[in-house]
Amino acid sequence: MASSTTVHAAPTLEWDTPLYQQAAQQLDHALQLAEVPDFVANRLRHPERAVILTLPVRLDDGTVASFPAYRVQHSSVLGPTKGGIRYDVAVDLGECAALAMWMTWKCALLRLPYGGAKGGVRCNPRDLSVNELTRITRRFTAELAPFIGPQLDIPAPDMATNEQTMAWMMDTYSMLKGYAVPEIVTGKPISIGGSVFRHEATGAGVVMVIEQACARLGWDLAEQRCIVQGFGNVGGIAASELHDRGAYVVAVSDLSGGVHSEAGLDVPALHAFVAEHGSLDGYDAGVERVTNELLLELPCDILVLAAREDQVTGANAANLHCKLVAEGANGPTSIEGDRILGDRGITVLPDILTNAGGVTVSYFEWVQDLGRLFWDRAEIRRRLAEKMSDAFDRVWGVSHERGISLRDAALVAAIREVSGALESRGIYP
Ligand code: NAD
Repeated sequence: MASSTTVHAAPTLEWDTPLYQQAAQQLDHALQLAEVPDFVANRLRHPERAVILTLPVRLDDGTVASFPAYRVQHSSVLGPTKGGIRYDVAVDLGECAALAMWMTWKCALLRLPYGGAKGGVRCNPRDLSVNELTRITRRFTAELAPFIGPQLDIPAPDMATNEQTMAWMMDTYSMLKGYAVPEIVTGKPISIGGSVFRHEATGAGVVMVIEQACARLGWDLAEQRCIVQGFGNVGGIAASELHDRGAYVVAVSDLSGGVHSEAGLDVPALHAFVAEHGSLDGYDAGVERVTNELLLELPCDILVLAAREDQVTGANAANLHCKLVAEGANGPTSIEGDRILGDRGITVLPDILTNAGGVTVSYFEWVQDLGRLFWDRAEIRRRLAEKMSDAFDRVWGVSHERGISLRDAALVAAIREVSGALESRGIYP
C-alpha cells in the first residue's frame, strides 16, 4: 500500500511526443523574445481541445477494421480553427497537436481570422481502395460533426488527402445538416464551391517567398540550382513554379527515391510520368537515380523541403550543400538541425511563412463560399501575392531589426498577433 509520503511523478500530457516537444521548444524560445504576459504564454503552450476517435470501417473483404483518428484544435482566440486532415501510418495525437500549434502561428502571421487545428487518421492510404477511403472519410466526418463547423473548425487537405477527400467530407456534413454547406471544408473541387488556384496555392506561395528572399539577398532566381524533396501537391507545384521562372530544378524526390540531373530536370515530363505511373519510380529519362538521404546532401543553391516533418536533423544538417532552405512542409527541420544550419550561415525560410499560401487561399475559398460570390484566378493570385509579401516583409524586418533568425522573427510576429487578441478578450469567465 502506498504510504502518505509516496511521491507520484506527474503523468506526461497525452500529446507530449517528440514532435510536440519540438513545437513547444520553438514556442518557449520565441516567448523569450516576444515579451507577452505569462497567462498568454501558458494558454498557448497547450491545445484547447483534442478529440480522439476509433473509427470502425468495413473493408472491401467484408471485415471491420478499427482506425485511430484525431482532431486537435490549438487556439480559437482569433476565430474558427483551421487545418488539414492527413492519412498516414505515423499520425498520432502529438503530431496533430504540434501541427495544430504551427497552424495557429501561420494563420496569425498571415493575419487570417483563424486559429490552428490539425487532424488525421492512422492508416496506410496506399493499402486502401477508393471505397475504403470513402468509408473512412465519411465515418470520420460523421464522428467529428459536433466539433467542426464553418464558424468552429474548418478542415482542409494535407498529406494523402485531396480535393476528393474534401468532397466526401462536405457531402457527409451536408447530409447530416440537411442542406449544402460548402464552407465546412476548403480545398474541395471547384464544382462544389472550391476556389480556383487553391490546388496550386501552397507550392506557388513557397516560390513567392523564395522569390522575395532572392530579391533581398541580391540573387537572380533564374540562376539558382534547386532541389525539391517531395513531389506531391506542395513539392510538385513548387518544382513547376521554379521551372517556369527559369530556375534549374536539378533533383526531386518522392517516397520511391530521387532523380537528379545537373543539366536541370524536365519538370513537365516528370509530372506527366507521375500522372501516368503514380510515382517517380521507374523514371529514367537522362537522369541519375539517388536515394532520399543523398538527395538532401547534393550541391545546390536552394533546397525546398516539401515532403514531411523531421527531414533535416542533427544527423544530416552538417552535410547539406545549399545556401537557402525553404520549408514547404510543416516542421521539416528539427531543433538540432535548425541550430546547425544557423551556425553554418544557411538561411532557413520557416514553414509558418513559406507554406502559408495554402491556408491563405483556403481563407479566400471560405470567404467566397460564405458570400456565394467567386473571384477569378488572376484576382486570387494577386491577393495571395499581396498577403505573402506583406508577411515576408514583416518577418524580414523583425529578423533584421532584432538580429534573430527568420524562424524566431516569424514566431514572434505571430505570437504577438495572438497575444494582442487574448489580452483584449481576457480569460473567461
Ligand atoms: P502529398 O501527400 O501531396 O505529397 C507528399 C510527397 O512527399 C509525396 O510525393 C511523397 O511521396 C513524398 N514523400 C513522403 N516522404 C518522403 C521522404 N521521406 N522522402 C522523399 N519524399 C517523401 O502532401 P502535400 O500536401 O504536398 O504535403 C507535403 C507537406 O507540406 C506536409 O508536411 C504538409 O503538412 C505540408 N503542407 C501542405 C499544404 C497543402 O496545401 N497541401 C499546405 C501547407 C503545408
